[in-house]
Amino acid sequence: MRVAIVSDIHANRQAFEAVLDEVSAGSFDALWCLGDVVGYGADPVACLALAREHADICLAGNHDLGVTGAISTADFSEAARRAADWTRGVLSAEELDYLGSLATADEEQVVSLYHASPRDPVWEYVSSPLQAALAFEVQPRRISVVGHTHVALAFHRFDGEDVTGETHRAGDRLEVDRGHWLLNPGSVGQPRDGDPRAAWLELDTAAWTAIYRRTEYDIEGAAWAIRAARLPEMLAERLSRGQ
Ligand code: ZN
Repeated sequence: MRVAIVSDIHANRQAFEAVLDEVSAGSFDALWCLGDVVGYGADPVACLALAREHADICLAGNHDLGVTGAISTADFSEAARRAADWTRGVLSAEELDYLGSLATADEEQVVSLYHASPRDPVWEYVSSPLQAALAFEVQPRRISVVGHTHVALAFHRFDGEDVTGETHRAGDRLEVDRGHWLLNPGSVGQPRDGDPRAAWLELDTAAWTAIYRRTEYDIEGAAWAIRAARLPEMLAERLSRGQ
């Protein structure tokens, strides 16, 4: 099965539409979304509708849960809290109910899926080999896929070896047919690894390959929408820097 995996769309309609165009042209068998469909960006209604229409699996992330009220936004940054409050006012009761119905993990698939990490699907940022080693202890599948950090990367451990990891650029291809892996596709709507293009991952669960993808999109349009919604300026400005 060839799966397109997206995460951290963050209400960036321009980015999500561009990725969906590439996914539909690539004849994938499924689309999985690891959460944070909303928050930060200016098009939560459109992005939620697109996720519901196209994603075969859709998890909830901390921003989705902050918008529904399932978790407190007290630990959010000021900009994130303002965006969550704004988003709550824009979504309908039915849309909020849908967001509230989503799980933060799915351990029933051929790989384990989490918004953040196997140990804490909502909050843990897996960015070190130690954290990946602890994740490998608890993930029920050989491979887990997580979002949340907005950085495209992979950690792995082969039998008897230490855990190592590295960030990945567009076109990087991994053979994941042996060992333990924790893969992060990066973020569709707010990349933070210096490449402003929308990030996603192509996973082939028959050949066991993973390919990192980046898609150009209308960054100016997404930034303009954030300014028009009177959301914090830094949320618009950071898109062009990929930070
Ligand atoms: Zn996020």
